[in-house]
Amino acid sequence: MTELISKLELKKINQLILKIQQLAQKVDIFCSALLLQAWRRIYFVSNKKEVYTSLKKRKGNCLRCGRCCHASLKCQHLEYDENGLSLCKVYDRKPTMCSLYPYNENDYFYHLRPACGYKYYDE
Ligand code: SF4
Repeated sequence: MTELISKLELKKINQLILKIQQLAQKVDIFCSALLLQAWRRIYFVSNKKEVYTSLKKRKGNCLRCGRCCHASLKCQHLEYDENGLSLCKVYDRKPTMCSLYPYNENDYFYHLRPACGYKYYDE
């Protein structure tokens, strides 16, 4: 009986640890996305020429997954069409920083790099 109770407790402890790990991962993604959003703006302001040169090396296409539009907080202009593809409500006048994403090989939200349709390397 004592063994059963301790097994049940172990199971609960493991579940709690798993939940804490999942929460920590979400916090990590959220914070790193916010930091990148701040950093990429600062970098762009002082390296515009390099950014536009780098953009010419960008391969692939946007897959309209919309993930970069809610990497941290969801953009208020993001919508999805009936096929589940992202739609920008202000596409014709969207912010420069949105249209430049990703502007070089380091300008990726790290958790989105594998899924993004834009590439700088042959992956
Ligand atoms: S993550 Fe990449 S593929 Fe997805 S919407 Fe953003 S730019 Fe497009």
